[in-house]
Amino acid sequence: MNLLDQALPYVRKISPYVPGKPITELAREMGLAVDKIVKLASNENPLGMSPKARAAVEKARSGCERYPDQYELIAALAERLGVGQDQIVLGNGSNDVLDLAARVFLAPGRSAVMSQYAFAVYPLATLSTGAECIVVPAQHYGHDLAGMKAAIRLDTRVVWIANPNNPTGNFLPYAEVREFIAHVPADVVMVLDEAYNEYLPPAERVDTVAWLKDFPNLIVTRTFSKIYGLAGLRVGFAVAAAEVADLMNRVRQPFNVNNLAIAAACAALDDHLFVAESYELNRRGMERIIAGLKRLGLEHIPSHGNFVTFAVPDGASINQKLLKQGVIVRPLGGYGLPNHLRVTIGLESENLRFLEALEKSL
Ligand code: PMP
Repeated sequence: MNLLDQALPYVRKISPYVPGKPITELAREMGLAVDKIVKLASNENPLGMSPKARAAVEKARSGCERYPDQYELIAALAERLGVGQDQIVLGNGSNDVLDLAARVFLAPGRSAVMSQYAFAVYPLATLSTGAECIVVPAQHYGHDLAGMKAAIRLDTRVVWIANPNNPTGNFLPYAEVREFIAHVPADVVMVLDEAYNEYLPPAERVDTVAWLKDFPNLIVTRTFSKIYGLAGLRVGFAVAAAEVADLMNRVRQPFNVNNLAIAAACAALDDHLFVAESYELNRRGMERIIAGLKRLGLEHIPSHGNFVTFAVPDGASINQKLLKQGVIVRPLGGYGLPNHLRVTIGLESENLRFLEALEKSL
């Protein structure tokens, strides 16, 4: 028996996560200058960090010899969301809290229900506990809630839903989500991942955190990686019933969110101007990219996030042609969508570069 045979069999079966290609990697591969590359592959905020967050990071640089204190961010989030401080779990990105939920509720002999084309971390988090993934075929690339309800088994302990979903951008009406949650058995955790929540028109957003009063099995997750522009600092959070949050906190690494990230997140939360600007830039960019895709005769999946997924004749080849022109988008072969590409909405100039490069690639 060699060492690798001793690794947990369910870990050996996991397919590694494939991140968006970093700018520096493409620069090395193609011999391109870094500043000639446009990266629209990871749903990052093209405006960068909020100015207030940037200033907060500068200030927090002194003090990094101390272990972090999560209090200020937890207090700010609890106040903003109208929940108790004991209901918040901070994560090293929301990816981290998804993993914590899996570690608390999943194990070999248990299962989790998710949709085909749902966010790639759900199978990763599920499989890393030894639990089984029940993948429900998508409907129009989105969650089939009736199918998901029917798929819940006696051994199911977690249901994963992303709303809006990544990589497809689909959005489920709130009434349907609430109705679905009401049918999820009370001893099954319902993770509602709202990483792209802030890109929904403010008038259409519903306060899902308030649903926690009715559904103690609900965990809502959000992130500072998207509209708040802090993807590289890694901060996200979960809101749950205090008892559930307590369990998640028991398996959380004590210092999972670092000093700079905490300071930046606190400041970003209050930078309403930056959030509004980011929202508006995204709205305009989305319109422009969709118009461009239509002009090129390409179909897209209507998106409610800061990205859009569109169909091409040959995903791998078009992706390669875009890379040669210094444009990085996300190929979706790993999601079972080999002839779809996902592009993040960028700055106006980046969107234009993308559309020009795409036209040349077709
Ligand atoms: N959920 C969804 C649906 C996402 O698309 C992402 C980021 N790609 C995340 C969660 C995790 O993001 P982060 O860990 O940066 O908060």
